[in-house]
Amino acid sequence: MKLFEYQAKEVFTGYQIPTPVGMVIENRAELAAVLPKIGFPCVLKAQVLRGGRGKAGLIQFASSAAEATKKVEDLLVSPDNVRKILVEQAVQIERELYLAVTVDPFKARVILIACSEGGVDIETLAADAPEKIIKEEVDLNIGLMPFQARDLAYRLGLQGAVAKQAAAIITGLYQIFCQYDAELVEINPLFYTKDDTLVAGDGKLIIDGNSSFRQTGYKKTREYYVSDAEYEAAQAGIPYIQFTGDIGLMCAGAGLTTTVYDLINYQGGTVANYLEFGGPNYQKAVKAMELCLKSPSKVILIVTFGTIARADVMAEGVVKAIRKLKPDRPIVTCIRGTNEDQALKILQEEGLECLFDTEEAVRKAVELVARRDYG
Ligand code: GDP
Ligand code: MN
Repeated sequence: MKLFEYQAKEVFTGYQIPTPVGMVIENRAELAAVLPKIGFPCVLKAQVLRGGRGKAGLIQFASSAAEATKKVEDLLVSPDNVRKILVEQAVQIERELYLAVTVDPFKARVILIACSEGGVDIETLAADAPEKIIKEEVDLNIGLMPFQARDLAYRLGLQGAVAKQAAAIITGLYQIFCQYDAELVEINPLFYTKDDTLVAGDGKLIIDGNSSFRQTGYKKTREYYVSDAEYEAAQAGIPYIQFTGDIGLMCAGAGLTTTVYDLINYQGGTVANYLEFGGPNYQKAVKAMELCLKSPSKVILIVTFGTIARADVMAEGVVKAIRKLKPDRPIVTCIRGTNEDQALKILQEEGLECLFDTEEAVRKAVELVARRDYG
């Protein structure tokens, strides 16, 4: 589970990691109430879970109440589903650093990552000048040793009091990583301010979903999802990913779905959403189709190869869903696997064409989209 920046920063505060003075607002009135406490210049930071907000225009600066109001209004109506904005005092920065704690899955170790050149271009830097990325391994059975934190601080080129502060921040990050069962805790950028102190400019905290049973402090409300369909799918326990293309996928099995996804792109089509119709969901056709219909797709493509998830049960469910929901767009089916003869019969009786070849089904879906687009 990925937390919002403001939540990560709330956690930071409890672990000796300084953050800029800031408050979260949801509308104009709240902005007006917090501005006197924040002052100018201030930074307006859209609280969305996607990265790269700076480059996407979702981080704005303001030097007056009028400017802040205008920018907040613009952010709240942006297509990125911005519901909260973190208003912060702008920090006068000298330069930007990078710090993170994550898992190295190959070595089964925790890894600290640091760089003296942080900021919005860290990915390009990591690709172009990997030697600038500093790494330090931590054995979970031993934990982070104080000398490791200090060593990392010195390797970042820091000295004196600020090196000491960096070591404390690294220690705090490592403690957060353990306490929150995190996959990643990141500060990018870590500001080096004009008065030689360190402040977390951004905050990222991803909690491992496998520990949600003990990490119960955060409820996944609507704002964590990019669409209503994605949110409702999560409530129903159905894996669902929202995309922005034309073909809604109701597929069984991650491998088959990935193949179908690739085939669609290969044929020049695009995917609107992926919904997992396999596993325990094979009996949930009505709910599954209801969710797919919430996504603005042009065609729904159902591709399955069921073993325990029986093809005839899925076909029956699809027929029931079509009768009940009366879809406003074409449905292409390729339902195969256990009892597929039976499935074929069920679909044919309903007047549905049941394809037996995945590639043919994909071609058909892509064709239908084109027909819809060009009449
Ligand atoms: P991200 O693009 O989603 O990672 O958002 P960040 O929170 O990292 O902000 C992007 C960039 O905005 C940072 O790398 C900074 O360069 C800039 N920025 C954000 N807050 C401040 C601030 O208080 N002062 C200054 N000078 N720059 C800031
Ligand atoms: Mn950032």
